[in-house]
Amino acid sequence: MSKKDYCKYHQREPATWRCRKCQKLYGDCCIIKPPQGLTAPKCLMCTEPLSYLGSANKIPPFWTQINRFFLYPFNQDSVMFLVISSLAFAALELTGLLGIFSWLILISIIYKYSYSIIELTSHGDMTPPSITTLFSGTGFSLFFRQLIVFILTGVFLYYLAKISIILFFVGLILAIFAFPASVMTLAWEHSVTAAINPSRLWFIISGIGWPYCILCVFLVILSISNTVVDAFLATKIHPLLFQSVNTFVNGYFILVMFSLMGYTLFQSQEKLGYTADMEDDELISDEEYYIKQTLADAEIYLKEGNMDQALSIVRSKIDQFPNDLDIHKRFHELLTETNDEKRLVYHGIAYLKLLLQTNNSYQASQVYLNCQKGAPSFPIKEAIEDIKMRHQIAEALINSGKPKEGLVLMKNLHQLDPQYPGLAKAYLLAGKTYSDRLHMDKQALQLLNFVAKKFPNSIEAKQATEFIKVINSLQAS
Ligand SMILES: [Zn+2]
Ligand SMILES: [Zn+2]
Repeated sequence: MSKKDYCKYHQREPATWRCRKCQKLYGDCCIIKPPQGLTAPKCLMCTEPLSYLGSANKIPPFWTQINRFFLYPFNQDSVMFLVISSLAFAALELTGLLGIFSWLILISIIYKYSYSIIELTSHGDMTPPSITTLFSGTGFSLFFRQLIVFILTGVFLYYLAKISIILFFVGLILAIFAFPASVMTLAWEHSVTAAINPSRLWFIISGIGWPYCILCVFLVILSISNTVVDAFLATKIHPLLFQSVNTFVNGYFILVMFSLMGYTLFQSQEKLGYTADMEDDELISDEEYYIKQTLADAEIYLKEGNMDQALSIVRSKIDQFPNDLDIHKRFHELLTETNDEKRLVYHGIAYLKLLLQTNNSYQASQVYLNCQKGAPSFPIKEAIEDIKMRHQIAEALINSGKPKEGLVLMKNLHQLDPQYPGLAKAYLLAGKTYSDRLHMDKQALQLLNFVAKKFPNSIEAKQATEFIKVINSLQAS
């Protein structure tokens, strides 16, 4: 049906932004919608401010969403609206209270409510209007305006009939065909002139395109269904109750049809010259926005083969958000793709500190291994001067299935810092790892004996002694 545009860098993501200068299309994947108050995003390639395309490319066509429209009226406000109108109509019918005047007020309110559905759904809001809006704002005259549209159409057809019967039928078909467009125009503009203006109606019909014909078919099916349900109920329900039930059912179908018409406009928003969002677009803070956008920018630069720009844009955000793990992660990933070993290791150490502070020990072990692999001539092991950090990373490595790497990192800790308070704990762990994971009991016993002798009153010494006993008994057996 209608052609959809996709992001230049992600072929499956619908386009939501366009650069008018270089014609590039971007999706939500690449351009994050800025929170209110921040400037519009710019094209990364040519710095031109981008034009927002709204949700046009990501809205599923209405014929795939039919159940949504049937469910649309099942909302507290709209059900209340239907119940009140049904009871009010029945009361007027039965009592004849205040006659035509009260009937006109009631029908004006109903029209106002129904037409506001088109307004809301055409802007992506799929929640029925609140009942409180019934008595406020504009739109009370919509019923009369619709009536004038009918009268003018009738007069027009009357004159056509006077000229020729064929002309009358052509006019009649055209009028029926254009009717949904006229209703939509009236709901939008509240203007009779616009609702009968052929060029305005053609703008809507051609803007929607072929889906307009599908919409007409659906509206006809819904109208027929409405009539069938009414005829069925008339035979089953007591005449006294029928008026209320009938109004309720008609009202239900009107709500379904109006939400369908509004959504069709929403679906064709780009061609109709406006932009609107789905109501469920998430709100993000300024900080989240800058971070997400930076990550997306880096990806675009990378796809364009510009590693230096990708690195520099992420680097600039590290200063701004020094504790953000996502920014560090992306910078680390980019650095692993370069040959800059020193940079990989120095950033790796800063990133590791942050990961250990936030208890991301598995991630820390991976970053350490990446640095080890990516910088063979500048070993990260030597670059980590902080003994506590060595100990923590070693523990993370052992826990994530890399005992050898962990043990290497803990080698000679007692020489590097004899006063390190965690020494007993570190060597106890190293001893256990040698024995349990590598079956190197000699090295294990050496370390465990060191703990037992050097820290005789510690809890680690007690555990080391017990472990020594276990090793010895296993060796004896
Ligand atoms: Zn551009
Ligand atoms: Zn993208």
